[in-house]
Amino acid sequence: MTAVAGGLTPEERLLKETVREFAAKEIAPGAAARDEEERYDRSLFTRMGELGLTGLPFPESVGGAGFSYRAWTLVMEEIAYADMAMAVSLSVHILSQFPVVTWGSDEQRARWLPEMLAGRKLGAFALTEPGAGSDAAALRLSADRVGPTEAPTAYRLTGTKIWITNAGEAERYLVFATVDPAAGAKGVTAFLVEAGTAGFRFGRKERKLGIRSDTASELIFEGCEVLVANRLGEEGQGLRIALSALGEGRISIAAACCGLAQAALDAAARYLTERRAFGGVLAEQQGLRFMLAEMAQRVAAARALTRAAAEAKDRGEPIAEASSLAKWTASDAAMSVTTDAVQLFGGSGYSREFPVERMMRDAKGAQIYEGTNQIHRLIVADHVLMRIKGE
Ligand SMILES: Cc1cc2nc3c(=O)[nH]c(=O)nc-3n(C[C@H](O)[C@H](O)[C@H](O)COP(=O)(O)OP(=O)(O)OC[C@H]3O[C@@H](n4cnc5c(N)ncnc54)[C@H](O)[C@@H]3O)c2cc1C
Repeated sequence: MTAVAGGLTPEERLLKETVREFAAKEIAPGAAARDEEERYDRSLFTRMGELGLTGLPFPESVGGAGFSYRAWTLVMEEIAYADMAMAVSLSVHILSQFPVVTWGSDEQRARWLPEMLAGRKLGAFALTEPGAGSDAAALRLSADRVGPTEAPTAYRLTGTKIWITNAGEAERYLVFATVDPAAGAKGVTAFLVEAGTAGFRFGRKERKLGIRSDTASELIFEGCEVLVANRLGEEGQGLRIALSALGEGRISIAAACCGLAQAALDAAARYLTERRAFGGVLAEQQGLRFMLAEMAQRVAAARALTRAAAEAKDRGEPIAEASSLAKWTASDAAMSVTTDAVQLFGGSGYSREFPVERMMRDAKGAQIYEGTNQIHRLIVADHVLMRIKGE
């Protein structure tokens, strides 16, 4: 489709405007109250499903809406502009479907995806454990084969996951376990597990600094039996599956960070045009105008890297480096822009009566989840060195 002003196609512009209107009307108004009450509003996820957002970036061949990933980043921006917590919930829901789309058998796709694509079932992505965060290959949740080693009929999962976004609310869990703890990355295997399966329950709910209206909880597996039909890919492919999905997820989180940062920038700019001091509005102070300009610069740079990463994915190119650059830059931009917004609001910025303190709390997590920003530096450095060595 022909590109128009802003580099967006008419279809993308319509999508952006539709989601912006929906988010402003239905998501933004309750964001502060949901944060205060740490309350997940499932009806908003259902509404996003009715609008087709819960399956938007997947091909029509698997039942998705067939939009590009660049279009998906526009959706993320708009939802996060209204409420970062809802954007993260939706992003993780999409993240948990990617591996089924890419690695699932026809039977698994037909069984697992339709209800998730439609937003009737919510997904979660369970990788992190108490002893395995950045070092995901060190995970210890065991998957013991039931039946012959060469042809198991099922696996028994035993162990604990922590910090699992959407946990408790979600019906569908993509769980990474190991068939051989001594094998490191080579033992990691992915499983599809439904809430309510015997031997699978929820543990402690995290009491978070930000995105407080989305849940994050422990998952506890006590000999939970999962049929071999629910193993995604082969034994030992799990880490590859997780990392490829995270490449995609990180672009989505980067886009959410752009939306969050834009919301803080707009709120601060509006405040400076209204707040009077020293015989005029604060927006007349050159020092503060410089701050606004620098905030806008960071948002624009983050958006450019995010869009470049999404376009690389749409062209089918490798995205590991581009998605790390985007996620690291955009989450740092969100953190610094929201912090500056609090500063520009003065005392009001520190008050829960105004939205910018929530935005600042919401931004912090994005520097940590889906790979900490230190891990993204390692990924980018690996690519720099590979190029030098001609690999
Ligand atoms: C709000 C939130 C939501 C989350 N949602 C999910 C989810 O849905 N699913 C899921 O599986 N996980 C989730 N997580 C977990 C998240 O992915 C991990 O917290 C993250 O990967 C870091 O792991 P860790 O907490 O064990 O920190 P660690 O890995 O212990 O790291 C501690 C510190 O050391 C640094 N560090 C570690 N190794 C290195 C190194 N080699 N070089 C330089 N620095 C290093 C890290 O950057 C960090 O600063 C979530 C976390 C949060 C905060």
